Amino acid sequence: MSIRKIKEKQFTNGIVYALETGDGYPIEVTDTFLPYYTKDAIGRNQNALRSGDVGSRAERWMIGVSVMSGCPVGCKFCATASLPRCRYLRSDEILSQIEFILGQNPEFDPSKSLEFKINYTRMGEPFLNLGAVREAIEEVNRRFPNVHHYVSTIGVKGSDFSWIRDNITLQFSIHSFDESYRDWLIPYPRKMSLEEIGKVRTASDLKTTVNLTLVREDDFSIQALQRWFDPKVHFVKLSPINPNCISDENNMGTGIITQTNLL
Ligand code: SF4
Repeated sequence: MSIRKIKEKQFTNGIVYALETGDGYPIEVTDTFLPYYTKDAIGRNQNALRSGDVGSRAERWMIGVSVMSGCPVGCKFCATASLPRCRYLRSDEILSQIEFILGQNPEFDPSKSLEFKINYTRMGEPFLNLGAVREAIEEVNRRFPNVHHYVSTIGVKGSDFSWIRDNITLQFSIHSFDESYRDWLIPYPRKMSLEEIGKVRTASDLKTTVNLTLVREDDFSIQALQRWFDPKVHFVKLSPINPNCISDENNMGTGIITQTNLL
């Protein structure tokens, strides 16, 4: 395995690990689980827990992997901006994160979990390291035919989405319907516009997620949502900010979503 553990932090429904590549670059991987009923977020119009029972890895098991150490995008609420350097990970280093989590949980068999999902949502922009991400996806598919992949992107101009199909689902992290604020929040020059993002269609088994980590009330607009996105193909997810040194530097607090699960 090409990575090693530096430290870990346990929370109610999982663990986040700080790992290090063989050449000393830090990466983060998460190992989380939830009760199976939370999968029906569309039918329930929310994914809050019904009780303090957080389920187990035999129900919904989610591994969140990094595709880079650091990230060149530099989102204003993201802790990766505090890292002094960036390196794109190889496919074997992405796979190693999954193998590491499986190794930590030998009592669970992912092929028997009701849902087994790999989220490409930790450090790095997957579409800027696409060769390695797609290689890793192909290998995970070979080993775990029941797996689902969830690939999150800011929307990089010129990206090919034709490979997003079947058990691969796309998330656009747009964070604001205000394009000028979005330019400040996600300071990557080759970004797709909201109009371009709204036109992307995939052959995934699931709808494309439109994700907003809402900092200000002005970031959400029902008119913009109706104008650019289609409820038949898009699923909207609103998330709180995960406070860190960078979001604190930018005075973001926890954003405008204050709801927490009572655990
Ligand atoms: S694209 Fe993702 S990893 Fe990169 S800075 Fe933005 S939130 Fe962080």
